[in-house]
Amino acid sequence: MTIAPLERNWLAEIQPTVRDAAPSGIVEVFDYARGRQGLIPLWVGEGDLPPAAAVSEALKRSLDRGETFYTAQGGIPAFREAVAAYMTRVYGRVPGGGPFQPQNFFATIGGMHAIEIASRLTLGPGDEALIPSPAWPNFVGAIETSGARAVPVPLGREGRWSLDPERLAAAVTPATKVIFLNSPANPTGFIATLEEIAATLEIARKRSLWIVADEIYGRIVYDGSRAPSFHDVMGPDDKVLFVQTLSKNWAMTGFRIGWLEAPPALSPVIENLVQFTTSGVPVFTQRAAIAALEEGEAFLAGQIERCRRARDILCEGLRATGRAQFFEPEAAFYLFFGIDGFPDSRALAFRLIDEAGVGAAPGSAFGPGGEGHLRVCFARDPAEIAEATRRIARWLAK
Ligand code: PMP
Repeated sequence: MTIAPLERNWLAEIQPTVRDAAPSGIVEVFDYARGRQGLIPLWVGEGDLPPAAAVSEALKRSLDRGETFYTAQGGIPAFREAVAAYMTRVYGRVPGGGPFQPQNFFATIGGMHAIEIASRLTLGPGDEALIPSPAWPNFVGAIETSGARAVPVPLGREGRWSLDPERLAAAVTPATKVIFLNSPANPTGFIATLEEIAATLEIARKRSLWIVADEIYGRIVYDGSRAPSFHDVMGPDDKVLFVQTLSKNWAMTGFRIGWLEAPPALSPVIENLVQFTTSGVPVFTQRAAIAALEEGEAFLAGQIERCRRARDILCEGLRATGRAQFFEPEAAFYLFFGIDGFPDSRALAFRLIDEAGVGAAPGSAFGPGGEGHLRVCFARDPAEIAEATRRIARWLAK
């Protein structure tokens, strides 16, 4: 007698919080046309440059030395020291005085892993996290897979994207545990002002909330040397966790290295979470990161100048069509824009791929307030951005 194979419904067998997490609407578009000949791909958040030679050389030397074993869960001391020195150079003194200390920094597998750890530290089932939106979809993913609820709070848009502290305060409920603030922001390119940051901190203090500050684009600014930071307004007792990554400043997306900045008293817990997720960050990528932090200023400056040229070409070209609506990005390397007559961003993204040969991310992927927009990443050769701009303009003129 043969037994009929059981038709198991595999998706019914797994955790609902994980199963029901919405897929990234960026990945959907990317998967549709990945590798298509002649397409100019502006949909994901990375540039076209390889990292500086010193970065790859440091990684190779580490491998040649045989640094291929398990390592300290918080990161190797040399990495944590290099981060502290870098932070002191860029952000001055820590809240409360003195230079930044290595024990505040924990090596992670990119910024995303730092976001994941920050979510695990602060959120559980039934909790709520506020996210000024439109926002990068992975925040919602990290929050909702931890069983908590992401509560979008619309950004203001009078003359610029802006943070509205009153709206933020009004969204706080007894279940709220965290405010996620990404500034400078993906996808809008907006920079929270020092006043907006201070007002957010005030709300967190009053309601004893955590802040997860994703300041990964803090150096990629088109005016001044860095964006305002929670470091500028907080005191030593404020509940702020910082997310950072080497990915963007130094074109190291594939290296997968970043860090979480947190009070040293949380070390044993953070190191446990590292142990139970990735069990550590490869020593050779930490060596590459040290090289970027110590020798990477010229690379970063060159990249910002290149992005500035690309941004100006894109903004001018789109403005000339008379059909595009946007605030010029103040930071990061994304333009978030609407085109008159195209309210459905997903449909528009697919049409631009098929009919104009340009890959853009649909605004609907970035939560409430994102629909009706497209996000393009302009961290690429300005000549290629000029060609993408011409293609969009020609397509619109048809
Ligand atoms: N935060 C923001 C705002 C981002 O845009 C990204 C990458 N797109 C990350 C974090 C994650 O960076 P990483 O690639 O280092 O994980």
